[in-house]
Amino acid sequence: MDCLFCKIIAGDIPSAKVYEDDTIYAFRDINPQAPTHILIVPKKHIACAADLTEADGATVGHIFAVAAELARAEGLSSYRVVTNSGADAGQTVQHLHFHLLGGRKLAVEMA
Ligand code: AMP
Ligand code: ZN
Repeated sequence: MDCLFCKIIAGDIPSAKVYEDDTIYAFRDINPQAPTHILIVPKKHIACAADLTEADGATVGHIFAVAAELARAEGLSSYRVVTNSGADAGQTVQHLHFHLLGGRKLAVEMA
């Protein structure tokens, strides 16, 4: 499949990996928007949050638990986890990913 993040997970494209297990992979964003900017992705190809079903609940819960661990490891007392679903929301890579952001004061911006 011609998917950037599937290729990163497979190791065909290099990445700055920070965590990996059987179901998820995490690596540093190439264009960081904050001192800590990590992307956490399921290894299974899911295009976006809109494609999630109840069956993916354990994976999503696991992603948030690992996000908490990574935030602790990065020394973050505050952080944000966000996913963009669809072009108008800013999604540019069509493989579900959660941005873990922290290390600076983040604007409270809902739109
Ligand atoms: P989004 O705009 O929500 O789809 O997020 C895609 C993110 O992927 C952006 O923050 C990009 O900077 C990041 N990105 C794109 N290519 C790479 C890459 N090769 N390695 C790491 N991060 C990447
Ligand atoms: Zn993919």
